[in-house]
Amino acid sequence: MFIMKIVGIVLLLAAAVCAKHEEYNGWTSYAVNPSTFEQLKVIGQLVDQYEVDVFSYPTVQREGLVLVRPEVNDSVVKALEENQISYSVHVSDIKAVLDQEDAVNARRKVEARGRSGGRSLPYDAYQEFPVIDDYLQDIARRYPNLVKLVTPANSFEGRPIRYLKISTTNFEDTRKPVIFLEGGIHAREWISPPTVTWAIHKLVENNTEPDLLRDFDWILLPVSNPDGYQFTHTNSRFWRKTRSTVGQNTARCPGVDGNRNYDFQWNTVGTSSNPCSDTYAGTAPFSEIETRVVRDIIHEYLPRMKLFLTMHSYGSMILYPWGHDGSLSSNAFALHTVGVAMAEDIDKVSLPNFPSYTVGNSVLVIGYAAAGAAEDYAHLAGVPLSYTYELPGLRSGLNGFNLDPIYIQQVAIETWAGIVAGARRIAQM
Ligand SMILES: [Zn+2]
Repeated sequence: MFIMKIVGIVLLLAAAVCAKHEEYNGWTSYAVNPSTFEQLKVIGQLVDQYEVDVFSYPTVQREGLVLVRPEVNDSVVKALEENQISYSVHVSDIKAVLDQEDAVNARRKVEARGRSGGRSLPYDAYQEFPVIDDYLQDIARRYPNLVKLVTPANSFEGRPIRYLKISTTNFEDTRKPVIFLEGGIHAREWISPPTVTWAIHKLVENNTEPDLLRDFDWILLPVSNPDGYQFTHTNSRFWRKTRSTVGQNTARCPGVDGNRNYDFQWNTVGTSSNPCSDTYAGTAPFSEIETRVVRDIIHEYLPRMKLFLTMHSYGSMILYPWGHDGSLSSNAFALHTVGVAMAEDIDKVSLPNFPSYTVGNSVLVIGYAAAGAAEDYAHLAGVPLSYTYELPGLRSGLNGFNLDPIYIQQVAIETWAGIVAGARRIAQM
C-alpha cells in the first residue's frame, strides 16, 4: 500500500513536470550564421515577421541562436534557404530539454536545502522569487546595523519590489560613493539575480573585502521584475518581459521589455510598438512600475552614485553607452578602462570552458542598436560608470538562459571579482 502510494506520487510529479512545458512542444532552436549584411538584415526581418525569439543575436562574424515556433517553422526554414543563409538545428525538442533541466534543478534544490538548513540562500539551484524575497528580509533582520530593507513599490501583479541598502554609516556619510546593482529585469535570464544576492552575501555574511564596506554605500536590487521572473518558473520558461496589461492587445500579449522602457531615445531603434514582440517598448517611457523603481533609485542617490550595473545574460560582455547609435560619451575612456579592469579580474577566476569577456560600446559589441535601456538612462542621468553585464552562457543544449545550475556559484564568484575591481577603480578616481 505504502509502495503504491509512493509510485502514485512519483507518477503525479512526473505528469506535473511534463505538462509544464507543453507550450514548447514542437519548438526548435536554430543556429544561424549570416555571412553578409544582407543576410543579417533578412534574419532581422524574419524575427519581426514570424515573432522569432532571439536567444543570441548573430552578426556577420558571430553565430546567433533563434527559437522558432512550429506554426512558422517551415516558412522560416524556407526563407533561410532561399537566402542561402547558413543554419543548423541547435535543439530539436525544446520541451524535452526543459523537462530534463527542471528535473536537475529540482533535485539540486532538495539537496541544497538539506545542506544549508534552509538559512542562507543556496547557489546550486535556481530559486523562485519568494525564496529570494525571504532572503532579503532575513538578511535585514539579522544585520539591522548594516542593512536596511526598502520596498518602494509593488509590481504590476502585486509582488514586492525590494532592495537592500548596505552601509556602515547608515547612508549618512555623503562623501561615500554609492554603487547600485540591479538584476532580473529580463525574466528568463536566471543567472542574473544570484550575482546580486551573492554581492549581498559577500558584503554582509562573508566579507573578505572590508574596504568595500568602509569606502562605499551599496544598493542591491536582485529581482526588479518579480512578476516576469516568477512566470518563467511557473509558466513560460522563456518569458522576457514584465506582465503588465496596459494598452491595446495587451490582454493577448501582456508585458513590456523593461530594458526598452527607459526614457532614453525611447522607442526609436531596436524596439517594437507591437505588444506581442519581445522588445515591446510599452505605451510610454516608464510605463512600467518595475523601471520607475530603478529610475527613482538612480535619482535619489545622484550625484553620489558612481557605478551602476544592470545584470543580464548571456554573452560574457561588459557593455557601455550609448546603446542607440554606437557613439561614445564624454566619459568613454573611463568607461572603457574600468570595464576592462572588471573583465580582466573576472577572466582571471573564470573557467576554461567559459568564453572570455568582451568589453565595449553596446552597439559595437552586440552588433545592434537598442533605445530605452537602463544603462544609457543611468549614464544620461549622471552616473559616470554605467554598464550592462551580459553574464556567461554556454552554447550546448539550452545552456544560454538555462545555464546548468552547477555553474551558478562560479558565475556569482567571478562576477563579484568584476564588481570588486570596478569599485576599487572608483576609489582611485
Ligand atoms: Zn537581458
